[in-house]
Amino acid sequence: MFLLMKRREKVYPIKFLLILFISMIFGININGQKKNSTKFNTVVIDAGHGGKDPGALGGNIHEKDVVLAIALKVGKYVNEYLPDVKVIYTRDKDEFIPLYKRAEIANKSDADLFISIHANYISDPRIHGVETYALGPARSNENLEVAKKENSVIVMEDEYTTKYEGFDPNSAESYILFEYMQSTYVEQSTLMASLLQKQFHDRAGRKDRGVKQAGFLVLRNITHPSVLVEVGFLSNKAEEKYLMSDKGQTYIASAIFRAIRDYKKQYDEKSTEVKTAKKEKVEKKPDITYRIQVASYRHMIKKGSGIYKKFKDIYFYKEGNRYKYTTLSSSDYFDITNKLRQVQKKAPGSFIVAFEGDKKIPVSDAIKITNTEK
Ligand SMILES: [Zn+2]
Repeated sequence: MFLLMKRREKVYPIKFLLILFISMIFGININGQKKNSTKFNTVVIDAGHGGKDPGALGGNIHEKDVVLAIALKVGKYVNEYLPDVKVIYTRDKDEFIPLYKRAEIANKSDADLFISIHANYISDPRIHGVETYALGPARSNENLEVAKKENSVIVMEDEYTTKYEGFDPNSAESYILFEYMQSTYVEQSTLMASLLQKQFHDRAGRKDRGVKQAGFLVLRNITHPSVLVEVGFLSNKAEEKYLMSDKGQTYIASAIFRAIRDYKKQYDEKSTEVKTAKKEKVEKKPDITYRIQVASYRHMIKKGSGIYKKFKDIYFYKEGNRYKYTTLSSSDYFDITNKLRQVQKKAPGSFIVAFEGDKKIPVSDAIKITNTEK
């Protein structure tokens, strides 16, 4: 930091110091929500649907009953075989829980993982198999249809138009929002999804339909890694029978449990590595991006409205319950401070934020890292 300041001190030393100071304060405040424990210790198991919402209707069984039976078995296995992991159910009985409530339960618990369990239904009775989703833009119509179907349950909720900011689960346009969503946890969520698919195939002998992405509302507001599993098709006679049976439910639940166990193992190993190699990491090639934060909203805003009117180059990220909008970027702190002065003419309250990869970090940390590099 000292070296950097010296190099430019003739140009604008006081301004620079002021900006640095302000950024550091912001950095420290923003980082206040961190988890204390570095080990994997809480999982949220979300049985889809419930109560007045039956979910998909098979010939003989409702989705809500199949997924609850599986969810409870998963929780039982975790309690039994991973006693240091706390299990939280979004529901443990036949009960209607709005989607936003499920995210609330997960976020309040500061969980390490959220798994939403569902069963699928499609007009073609031949289609069968298991697929797992991470949050993101759907790459095929088929995936979009699955998200639409699962999201459409919100119309059963009171005041859903205000709760979901006018999101229309059946309009393709609503899903454009997911194109611009950057989940901080894509990598971990995708890892979990692939561990699940591996277990469904290897352990339960199910057809592996792969890891996918789509815009699921239940995952949208969750502030940690999260996946949605479609454990099979109730529209396929044989699969419905399998999912109704205690044996089928046991195999599926045990596959989910094994994936949680494997994920925990990797997570715990990584956190130990990070601890011991922290110093080394600083010396490795840093991936730091500075951006200028220009606005923060409680709700996601549409392209062309709000802050989009003032700035062309908008990138947003989610932190806690807020959507934070940034403009411009640079890997160089001085460069971004120059840009900041221009931006502040249009948005006086704007300030610098820093990211390491996709992860937001305090600006003071970012400066330390970029300085070590120089
Ligand atoms: Zn469902």
